[in-house]
Amino acid sequence: MTSSVYIHIPFCNSICSYCAFTKLLSNSKNIDDYLITLEKEIKSKYQGEIIKTLYIGGGTPSVLSLEQLKKLSKIIKLFNFSEKIEFTFEVNPESIDLEKIKLLKGMGVNRISMGVESSLPKNLAYLKRNHDFNLVKEKIFLIKKYIKNINVDLIYGLKEETLADLEKDLDNILSLDINHISTYSLMIEDNTYLKIKGEQEIDEDLDNSMYQLIIKKLTNNGFRHYEISNFSKPGYESKHNLVYWHNDTYYGFGLGASGYLDNIRYQNVISLRKYLSGNYVENEETLSKQDILSYALILGFRKIDGINKKEFFNKYQVNILDLYNIKDLIKEGLIIDDGSNLFISYDKIYIENSILINFVGE
Ligand code: SF4
Repeated sequence: MTSSVYIHIPFCNSICSYCAFTKLLSNSKNIDDYLITLEKEIKSKYQGEIIKTLYIGGGTPSVLSLEQLKKLSKIIKLFNFSEKIEFTFEVNPESIDLEKIKLLKGMGVNRISMGVESSLPKNLAYLKRNHDFNLVKEKIFLIKKYIKNINVDLIYGLKEETLADLEKDLDNILSLDINHISTYSLMIEDNTYLKIKGEQEIDEDLDNSMYQLIIKKLTNNGFRHYEISNFSKPGYESKHNLVYWHNDTYYGFGLGASGYLDNIRYQNVISLRKYLSGNYVENEETLSKQDILSYALILGFRKIDGINKKEFFNKYQVNILDLYNIKDLIKEGLIIDDGSNLFISYDKIYIENSILINFVGE
């Protein structure tokens, strides 16, 4: 039974230098048309299940005007919410204000994810973000009066960033006293301003040192490292993202959104014209049993606690130890079997991708 929904709002007020997401410069008419189409798409697919996690991401959902947010609020009412729903809404510091926060609270939003990315002026300039850290502090203060559960995103590994810079950045982020931090090592992706400018990713050893610094600093400050890139105060893990890492099904609505329903993974179109004309899905892939198991391993091992053997058997009727070369990886010390769970050895987390590659395909 599907109980999670992702909704993509692709509009942004400006384009960041590293951005490879599905996004468009905001335009009020396009947003109005988009919301009409979004409603149609949801009505065409949603089967009325009880929804336990709803995540509205982007883009920048907070660029919607108050009127547009009210329209979105009506669309959201199409869903049957669980009483204990985790409802996350992404915001940027420069486009969220008191009126919008109150409206979000009234919509049922109980978790905010803010694109902070850095507190340091030189990093924010490099990333082409339009805020400064004073604005972040001001907006987090406002949000906390209404919504306590807050994530911020942090990007590290920028050209010329030093370990001392990162430490300062982490201290500033920690001073916000929020309960979830998602960290991303900067990737220079195709079709981004940074790629076109010929920028390079930083040296791997420095990247690893930065990752270790983040782990040390955040875990020393009461955060639990629960997924390769994610840290939370106890009890504040992202329930929505855990749906992905548990390889559970979810609806994806909106431009460029992806979803997973009935053994089918699908990706929506990225052309606004196509989307507005009612052609929602760009491609879909029906998964074989082997594909499903491959996803379950690749996603499940992203969690620091890894995969529970019994739950895995109950869900897929397969003994996880019989899959791929898992027994060899255990012998090599790359995967640990503690009796109930299998997980990547913590000192090998940094090379996790080279371990997960073992589970791709047949
Ligand atoms: S705000 Fe987010 S989606 Fe928009 S351009 Fe920046 S990184 Fe991309």
